[in-house]
Amino acid sequence: MQPFDYARPETFEEASALLARAQGGGGCKVCILAGGTELLPRLEAGVLTPILVVDIKRLPGLSELWFDPIHGLTIGAAVTLRRLGTHPDVRRLYGLFLDVYEVMGVPQVRNRGTVGGNLCNASPAADTAPALLCYDAVCRIVGPEGERSVPLEEFLIGPKQTALGPGDLLVSLHLPPPTGRAAGVYQKLRMAKGGHLGLVNAAVLAQIGDESGANWRIALGAVGPRPFRAHKAEAALQHGRGAPDAAAIRTAAALAQEAAEPIDDLRATAAYRRAMVTVLVRRGIEATVARLAGASA
Ligand SMILES: Cc1cc2nc3c(=O)[nH]c(=O)nc-3n(C[C@H](O)[C@H](O)[C@H](O)COP(=O)(O)OP(=O)(O)OC[C@H]3O[C@@H](n4cnc5c(N)ncnc54)[C@H](O)[C@@H]3O)c2cc1C
Repeated sequence: MQPFDYARPETFEEASALLARAQGGGGCKVCILAGGTELLPRLEAGVLTPILVVDIKRLPGLSELWFDPIHGLTIGAAVTLRRLGTHPDVRRLYGLFLDVYEVMGVPQVRNRGTVGGNLCNASPAADTAPALLCYDAVCRIVGPEGERSVPLEEFLIGPKQTALGPGDLLVSLHLPPPTGRAAGVYQKLRMAKGGHLGLVNAAVLAQIGDESGANWRIALGAVGPRPFRAHKAEAALQHGRGAPDAAAIRTAAALAQEAAEPIDDLRATAAYRRAMVTVLVRRGIEATVARLAGASA
């Protein structure tokens, strides 16, 4: 590993001054460090050769994780996957994250890896993304131009590409409070042997409001350049308070498949991935209906 300077700022002013070195020319390269589960292997392999690594874990708000019924859930970007998956309010009100936690990485990665790192790494297969998309997460970003909020759907642009510009930091994610009873399922199809990343990731969420009926959400990962919401598939399920019938479920699964743009790679063919989208979405809807029925029993 090539030597580099290390800084651990405690204020945004300090962090901005350090990250400003990422802008402009001069070959000056600065990397942001959160849990390091992605970054450190790349430094070790010499894929990245920064002159400065900025550890963001001590910045204010980055490790916050709290819920209130007015503002909803705030997840600091440096909150670990383990803290998210084991937080009592998250488990009670944002149940998709339980499923995510159970299928993510290995214990060391869950203990160390962060939600922000998972998103900023911008893998199409990032496991937190489909659930966060279903919950309408909004990203709070601080950068050279000040502070701004960007919906996660716009934050994720493509492989290794986010809405972050040079010197920008993802500070936190904000999820609105649940509007009523909710249930959902996250499924990750993996290779039979080895490999942590999903071949197809699918999150399904249904929220039952007081008057408006069921609001369905479907988000997919690993079957396109970025994780995305399958809006047309969702629309096929919006039919009042009752459970969708078999025809609506089939239509939604087919529309989800149409929205997918998988690639052939060493792990699976595009055709297989596409077929599995249909299966996972259908099963996800059926399991969500079953969970909703269980919750109201
Ligand atoms: C063995 C192993 C298993 C894994 N399994 C899974 C898995 O099952 N599912 C999955 O989705 N991922 C998996 N990963 C990938 C990785 O562990 C996760 O994506 C993790 O959440 C990354 O978080 P981190 O804090 O470690 O990121 P880091 O390595 O610290 O950072 C990742 C990237 O994001 C940037 N970054 C981090 N935080 C910010 C921020 N707040 N603002 C701006 N930029 C930032 C960094 O500069 C870096 O480029 C695995 C990795 C390993 C090594």
